Amino acid sequence: MSVWNEWLDASLDKLAEHELLRTLDAVEPVDAVHVRADGRRLTLFSSNDYLGLSAHPKVRQAAADAAEQGGLGPRGSALVCGYTTAHEALERELAELKGCEAGLLFPTGFAANLAVVSSLGGSGVAIFSDSLNHASIIDGCRLARRRGATLEVYPHGDMAALEEMLANSEASRKLIVTDSVFSMDGDLAPLDRLAELKAEHDALLVVDEAHGTLVFGEHGGGVAEHFGVEDAVDVHVGTLSKAVGALGGFAATSQKFRQWIFNRGRAFVFSTAQAVPVVEAARAAIRVARDEPEIRRRLWERIAQLGDRLGRELTSPIVPIVLGDEARALAASDHLLDEGFHVIAIRPPTVPPGTSRLRVALSAAHAPEDIDRLADTLEAIT
Ligand code: PMP
Repeated sequence: MSVWNEWLDASLDKLAEHELLRTLDAVEPVDAVHVRADGRRLTLFSSNDYLGLSAHPKVRQAAADAAEQGGLGPRGSALVCGYTTAHEALERELAELKGCEAGLLFPTGFAANLAVVSSLGGSGVAIFSDSLNHASIIDGCRLARRRGATLEVYPHGDMAALEEMLANSEASRKLIVTDSVFSMDGDLAPLDRLAELKAEHDALLVVDEAHGTLVFGEHGGGVAEHFGVEDAVDVHVGTLSKAVGALGGFAATSQKFRQWIFNRGRAFVFSTAQAVPVVEAARAAIRVARDEPEIRRRLWERIAQLGDRLGRELTSPIVPIVLGDEARALAASDHLLDEGFHVIAIRPPTVPPGTSRLRVALSAAHAPEDIDRLADTLEAIT
């Protein structure tokens, strides 16, 4: 053990020296945008619950009813016994939301990206991936590479570079993969141009709408709906853990792609299916978002309000306040905490060195006064 302890001591010290040592702090949930920590009530500007649905009365009730009726549901992978009629119904509803033939659920969004990208990438495939794609896409690409795919990472959002890479590629099958909303910058992928490039180069287009689903598009279909290119997207990946307010991942695609992914996506095959109350909570949340479009409108009002206060146009509920070095970002986050705001400092390796930042995430559940108080405090420290 001593070699391991020595290694741990040295490695943890090194992280601490670089202000990169993370702590794991438990909070008590109060509602969608409030928690209690150390006896204090904090307003969350760090949660991805963009519509506040995790605490909606209809969502709570759906989860409670399902738990009451059948407990957590069969504990097994979907291919064994974990796939219930509730899972099947949610898959159908997600497919409808995305305008696709079929849906497939995963334990998390991370697992969804891993399974989709690794099962489609193999020998003869070239994958083209945006340099700021989420870690789960990066890991999916790494697995695909082990299966014989080649990987080309294009500079963030650079369509000219991507076009050149596609034109020079001799791979028999090409796959373009991108986040729709980039999780640390809040900017959008140019899905309109990606749809054109995909058509010109006969490529498959996989889009991770983790932060887009229920936030963008007239019906909440995501950034693809916002750009009117739903049909150009071959696999819409998503998560139920953000605007849906629950937990889990999904892919919406054709029947054939679904069949391939549930046969060959190891993160699907070898992991237990979601608990039924979570599935029913997600179904209720999607119904609420459909029946109460004013919730999504409220989110966009909050985004516009903070944009006005910061003097910049915001493109999504994710608002980066780039501060530079790690210590500065941490100090800003601590100051906000003293003022009653939970805003996370994002540091390398999550973002490139020198771009440590506060990541403010907005929710329809924030009151206009919350936004104003946050903006006042940000003004004082930046
Ligand atoms: N994709 C993106 C862009 C994300 O931001 C996240 C969550 N951090 C995921 C995928 C993973 O989703 P989940 O949290 O459901 O595993």
